[in-house]
Amino acid sequence: MERESLEMDVVFVGAGPANLSGALHLARLVADHNDGVANGKRAGKPLGEIQIAVIEKGASVGAHILSGAVMDPRGLAELIPDFVDRGAPLETPVKQDHFLYLTKKRAIRAPITPPPLKNHGYYIVSLNRLTAWLGEQCEAAGVNIFPEFPGAEMLYDERDCVVGVRTGDKGIDAEGNPKDNFEPGVDLRAKVTVLGEGVRGSLTKKLIQRLGLDKGREPQIYSLGVKELWELPDDRYPAGRVTHTLGFPSDQWTYGGGWIYGMQNRILNLGYVTGLDYRDPLIDPHAEFQRFKTHPFVAKLLSGGKMIRYGAKAIATGGLHAVPQLYADGVLLVGDSAGFLNGARLKGIHTAIKSGMLAAEAIFDALVAHDFSAGKLQSYEQRVKESWITPELRRYRNFHAGFRHGRWLGMVNAGLQYITGGRAWGIFDRDHQEAGHEAVQKLSVYGYQGDDFAQRYKDLRFDGALTFNKVTDVYHAAVAHDEDQPAHLHVLDKNICATRCAEEYGNPCQRFCPAAVYEMVADGDGPRRLQINFSNCVHCKTCDIMDPYQIINWVTPEGGGGPDYKGM
Ligand SMILES: Cc1cc2nc3c(=O)[nH]c(=O)nc-3n(C[C@H](O)[C@H](O)[C@H](O)COP(=O)(O)OP(=O)(O)OC[C@H]3O[C@@H](n4cnc5c(N)ncnc54)[C@H](O)[C@@H]3O)c2cc1C
Repeated sequence: MERESLEMDVVFVGAGPANLSGALHLARLVADHNDGVANGKRAGKPLGEIQIAVIEKGASVGAHILSGAVMDPRGLAELIPDFVDRGAPLETPVKQDHFLYLTKKRAIRAPITPPPLKNHGYYIVSLNRLTAWLGEQCEAAGVNIFPEFPGAEMLYDERDCVVGVRTGDKGIDAEGNPKDNFEPGVDLRAKVTVLGEGVRGSLTKKLIQRLGLDKGREPQIYSLGVKELWELPDDRYPAGRVTHTLGFPSDQWTYGGGWIYGMQNRILNLGYVTGLDYRDPLIDPHAEFQRFKTHPFVAKLLSGGKMIRYGAKAIATGGLHAVPQLYADGVLLVGDSAGFLNGARLKGIHTAIKSGMLAAEAIFDALVAHDFSAGKLQSYEQRVKESWITPELRRYRNFHAGFRHGRWLGMVNAGLQYITGGRAWGIFDRDHQEAGHEAVQKLSVYGYQGDDFAQRYKDLRFDGALTFNKVTDVYHAAVAHDEDQPAHLHVLDKNICATRCAEEYGNPCQRFCPAAVYEMVADGDGPRRLQINFSNCVHCKTCDIMDPYQIINWVTPEGGGGPDYKGM
């Protein structure tokens, strides 16, 4: 097959805050350098025109971006100091912080907000909108942005140096044959490729495995955030109020918590995070969120309102111990792909932006030196160590480990972490952290009979007013995939599904997926078989993370397919 090959200087894979910040900063560094050399203020040679490309699998920049989000403006203020005057789409400054402990019936407000959750002076944002705006800033600076271009494969030379990325083919039918509109993917060759695919990037995962970039690091651990936007009938919840909750509906062995943010125009933004290191095999993070809304405090807030948007996405909460090596020959990792999210604060936008900027500075030096080897690019990792990212993550490095011992010890540990600057001893030490999917227990350990959901969620009904089933929710994520293409969820051994997995775990994919992609269906009198409704997929990556046998491989579908997270 003939493939087009395009020569770029730098290719950023993924148009998230990390990569867009990196591309913008790099374009400006190059322009400043060229101007400086031209007017004699800077030594050296001009770099000439440097081709910078950002590719994005979504139909537009921001389409696949889902976050909370309360943004610590530190990163954006370094990238664009006058971001407010330049019209960055900020919903509202945070004016009030509430922290609630939820029992089954009551909401108890803590007299003080835990320090990591103090957000006064920060901004509530729709990260979808903010990202789209960053994309515009990039284009104005001369960066080429290609939406609908998924990075499908890394390109390596014979020495295993990364030399670019191959984008996905278009127009392949469900059987793998080319259709009339077939277009082969393009080889984008680059001196440096930056992976900013967000959490559990499909290329990042393979690159880390291939080059052993996680050697000596702890395994990454994840949570899943499930979210809805509601239109309220009145001003009962002010814009700028941020509420975080602990307690109901999580059991004490499951890491979890809720958020409720007041946006403009009576839009309420609420969601629930469930740790993907849960043990009970019947846990369903979407159901946990639906139960959260049935709490009297939350249900009252939502009464008379209307759900308008839905989405879900994984969060990398492993922290500093799980950050892999950030560079190799011709490649860098930024943002959530590098694991820079601060789990205690549930914040990763500011570190994503900063990491993109640091990557840009390292790439700029490499361009000047004409050296794109790991030896040169390692200055990026050094920059990260010397920046504010590392002390921030170090301070909370053992935060998540405490929750392995239940909610109360987790909270004690979180307090100690804060006082001691992140130190931990004994059971709170983060060493030997198990990857999330290793924590889930078999049905028999919990005494469950089969996989009947009602054994855990007895009282949960989907009434279509306050609580919604997955299919209804997915409709509100505006997901679209061309159905005549190969499924992008590769189950490497389907025999396990109907036999071992059904028996041992009751096919947990049906529950951990928040978009009803996986369904065990009856096939005559024979055993049930796995049906993959891939067109529902919201690209949250949970299946790739959580499958107990690690046999689900998420790869990019045809470009443009996926959710449309407008306003999320
Ligand atoms: C539920 C939830 C709540 C959160 N709340 C907050 C909060 O309140 N405050 C905060 O600061 N942070 C929050 N975060 C974290 C924050 O959203 C992330 O840290 C941040 O978005 C990371 O930016 P990124 O650029 O690394 O990745 P992302 O924002 O994930 O962007 C990655 C982009 O790359 C694209 N992509 C992925 N793979 C490919 C590929 N192979 N080819 C082409 N394109 C690709 C994706 O479609 C996406 O557009 C939250 C996250 C979640 C999920």
